[in-house]
Amino acid sequence: MKYYDKLIFELSKEGRQGFSLPENTWSQSLDALPEKLKRTQRPALPEVSELDVVRHYTNLSNMNFGVDTGFYPLGSCTMKYNPKINDEIAALPGFQGIHPLQPVETVQGVLQIYDELDRALSAITGMAKFTLNPFAGAHGELTGLMIMRQYHLQRGDSKRTKVIVPDSAHGTNPASAAVCGLEVVEVKSTPQGTIDVEDLRPLLDDTIAGIMMTNPNTLGLFETEILEIAKLVHDCGGLLYYDGANMNPLVGVARPGDMGFDILHLNLHKTFSTPHGGGGPGAGPVGVAAHLIEYLPNPKVVRQEDGHYTIEGNDTAAGRISGFMGNFGVLMRAYAYILRLGRQHVKKVGPLATLNANYIKEELKDCFKLPIDTCCKHEFVFDGLKDQSTGITTLDVAKRLLDYGFHAPTIYFPLLFHQAIMIEPTETESKETLDGFIAVMRRIAQEALENPEKLRGAPHHTPVRRLDETTAAKQPVLTFADLAAS
Ligand SMILES: *Cc1c(COP(=O)(O)O)cnc(C)c1O
Repeated sequence: MKYYDKLIFELSKEGRQGFSLPENTWSQSLDALPEKLKRTQRPALPEVSELDVVRHYTNLSNMNFGVDTGFYPLGSCTMKYNPKINDEIAALPGFQGIHPLQPVETVQGVLQIYDELDRALSAITGMAKFTLNPFAGAHGELTGLMIMRQYHLQRGDSKRTKVIVPDSAHGTNPASAAVCGLEVVEVKSTPQGTIDVEDLRPLLDDTIAGIMMTNPNTLGLFETEILEIAKLVHDCGGLLYYDGANMNPLVGVARPGDMGFDILHLNLHKTFSTPHGGGGPGAGPVGVAAHLIEYLPNPKVVRQEDGHYTIEGNDTAAGRISGFMGNFGVLMRAYAYILRLGRQHVKKVGPLATLNANYIKEELKDCFKLPIDTCCKHEFVFDGLKDQSTGITTLDVAKRLLDYGFHAPTIYFPLLFHQAIMIEPTETESKETLDGFIAVMRRIAQEALENPEKLRGAPHHTPVRRLDETTAAKQPVLTFADLAAS
């Protein structure tokens, strides 16, 4: 059976109706419509009952996996549960209905929220000021690097065209540097998974604009040499950029600003309450230390002495990164999330995320290969099964997890290990859920030895079986009609 056989798409029956509309009070305006714009025939829409529509969409939604339906331990993405009330607050008509070109006097409350979120994020990260304009993490990286370049250029230091990026970095780091016109220089990791300071030293000279770091890094490991690294980079005249996508375990515990970072971005759609994934809207606010405030991109929200807000720009800014003032709905969720946690409870996020990750790691490390056996932060990386004698790969394990109702972790990233499985449970999961996941992972490890064919054919119970991802990307079938014809 093909997966779409379970779903009937052609449900329309002539004359069937699933809606009722209020009485038309617009007849006058309809009369005013030019004749040529009026319909002469009814539109060809499906005619279905309400119940058919409800079942159709509910069945479709059940074919998908989401954080509302099950555990989602996707590393580096922080797919945690984000309270629904933050969505509701962001959707209040006064927030949702505003327009970016409205007169500034009519959006004073929204600008106040922009300003207060800037100050909350500054307090959490130890930075002096933020721009909330960038739309994503990678967009924040580009913004931050433009600020870095602008800083050097304004000082007449035009030789600094290189950025150091660790070999464990997320792919967006070197990509953003290249987009910004900077040359990427790689620094190696030690066998313990953190930056090799001895490899870094000889790279530092007067052509270095700065270094991009993720801390904890993409292996979930805290860069313990960070103070030494900050000193070395600053001594050579460079700046430190912090990729804040992994900020989750540090919230309320440690601040990048205190570690010596000059510029950073946060992924509000990872750490601060907008669900990540599915290509939905995000936000990548960029924070800077005091000496870089003037280079933050335009436009800026400025609080005047009498308490009212204006939108301004300045000449030394690193240009403009977005048309207006960012993705307000995403900013609003972060604001609601931070206020509801408050100073006191925000401290619990990091330690709980760290505890959950270490718990899973310790419970599974006798079945899965743990290349770096040390205390991790919010996520950790296995290098496939411990016993790989039956040829079972990380892909097979990931596919089999779907049969047991768990989303797969991130696989084959970071690139440092061939069979990488990167697990991030987040702070929002219960011990029962973690135990359920651990039991299933152990069972899969056993199946790999006793019944490897079963794993190679997995998943067996999902609406879609194992996909040919290359063909799916190269010859996508995008409509039901195409699918039925194929
Ligand atoms: C997700 C992520 C990014 C990129 O963020 P986007 O919002 O997806 O552009 C950068 N660095 C790290 C470490 C990440 O996990």
